[in-house]
Amino acid sequence: MRIINEPEIYVVGRQTLDNAEVQRFLADHETSWQTDSERGSELIVELAGRVCYMSLGDKQFRKTNADYIGNLVGQGHGSVLEHAVWDLLITGVSRSLTHELVRHRSGTGFSQLSQRYVDESTADFIEPPVIAADPELHAVWLRSIEASHAAYNELVEGLARRVQEQHPDLSRTQRRKLAREAARSVLPNATETKLLFSANARALRWIITLRGGEGAEPEIRRLAVKLCRLMRDEAPNLFGDLEIVRLNDGSEGVQAGHTKV
Ligand SMILES: Cc1cc2nc3c(=O)[nH]c(=O)nc-3n(C[C@H](O)[C@H](O)[C@H](O)COP(=O)(O)OP(=O)(O)OC[C@H]3O[C@@H](n4cnc5c(N)ncnc54)[C@H](O)[C@@H]3O)c2cc1C
Repeated sequence: MRIINEPEIYVVGRQTLDNAEVQRFLADHETSWQTDSERGSELIVELAGRVCYMSLGDKQFRKTNADYIGNLVGQGHGSVLEHAVWDLLITGVSRSLTHELVRHRSGTGFSQLSQRYVDESTADFIEPPVIAADPELHAVWLRSIEASHAAYNELVEGLARRVQEQHPDLSRTQRRKLAREAARSVLPNATETKLLFSANARALRWIITLRGGEGAEPEIRRLAVKLCRLMRDEAPNLFGDLEIVRLNDGSEGVQAGHTKV
């Protein structure tokens, strides 16, 4: 059993643009498009905005990609930001964090580790820093985690025997599932989980802003800050106005130039 304090984010998928197809479209419409970004996410958003008005070729007002997207964001023309999508594998977060993250329904997709199918006898746990900082409170927390985990292991064993006696006809996978899905009821919110989280730029901006705010729970706020740094690197023209700031309690948070687009 490991105690984890920091989430990890793996960018397993990011937006690309098929330049050959874009050129084919431009040629079919006897027009052209000049821009200065090389990032698929920034290019697709600019292209989406320009297609709305066919502001291409001669009608194309000379603007950098940053200016073009800045104008869209400033005007709250957020729907074009939905074309840029990322796939992020997130690990080292607690079940309580993901319970909050999955509330974001719009522009997101989630595939999370199943506690019904996956064995949690080797689970890791996320400790809130405020508890970790105090040796006495840390001891209370650890005792509780160890007791819950031991109870889980005991329940899985007992339930596996019981299910085997009562349903010998079931497959091994089915029997294990019946045992694990009942035993997991004693696992704490602190249990580590993993998920593949996909989201478009509009949703990501909103989630980072809301969950990076002062009122957000500290673990999801740390994730929002990490996501903010990551997305600013991934696509500065889409996320550059999201700033990492120092909050009143000394921790980091996020402040958005344009809150909701
Ligand atoms: C500090 C904090 C405290 C919270 N406390 C609680 C709590 O005590 N209890 C609780 O249950 N939840 C709580 N939440 C969760 C919160 O209520 C939202 O469910 C969550 O933040 C998802 O945000 P969202 O509603 O903007 O949805 P998202 O899915 O992120 O949607 C983005 C935007 O799309 C639009 N949208 C999405 N779906 C619809 C729809 N069906 N109809 C119309 N417009 C839509 C809205 O404009 C919405 O803001 C808390 C959140 C925060 C940040």
